[in-house]
Amino acid sequence: MTRSRVPAKADWTFMDRILVDCPACGGLAVILPTEPPKFPDKPGFDIDFLARRMTCTACGKVREQEHTAFGALANPAMGLPLRLRAQTRHGDLLAWNEAHLDYLQTWLSGTLREETRESGVGVRNRSIISRLPAWAKAPRNRDELLKAIARVRLKARPGG
Ligand SMILES: [Zn+2]
Repeated sequence: MTRSRVPAKADWTFMDRILVDCPACGGLAVILPTEPPKFPDKPGFDIDFLARRMTCTACGKVREQEHTAFGALANPAMGLPLRLRAQTRHGDLLAWNEAHLDYLQTWLSGTLREETRESGVGVRNRSIISRLPAWAKAPRNRDELLKAIARVRLKARPGG
């Protein structure tokens, strides 16, 4: 029996750096916001609406996206496929970046899993863990998920 414990994190936590497949060459591209949040007192509130820039680590292609107006559908990955799609028989486990993948791996690695509440953060009902699909939380799928994470991790490297 192994125990894993992660602090509860809001679902937007890792969205400040998004890894995608480059639309030009299929290589590793990185999306970063190009403007500060407009509501710094509400962390994460508009993170998926911020203007952003994709830069490919392989071919140098750059793509920009303007600030998304409120009411419009946010498109944080700029319509591009996420780089870190851990593929399993049940579905794909998605991660925005390596830190997100690390977080998921840490939680999944335990046979006894716990998500601790962070003081002052009422994110339990929209936390990353609470939003995982049921198949990803199912203990019987643990080994398959950990293997899929190990495979997809290589794609986070330039040239991967
Ligand atoms: Zn490229």
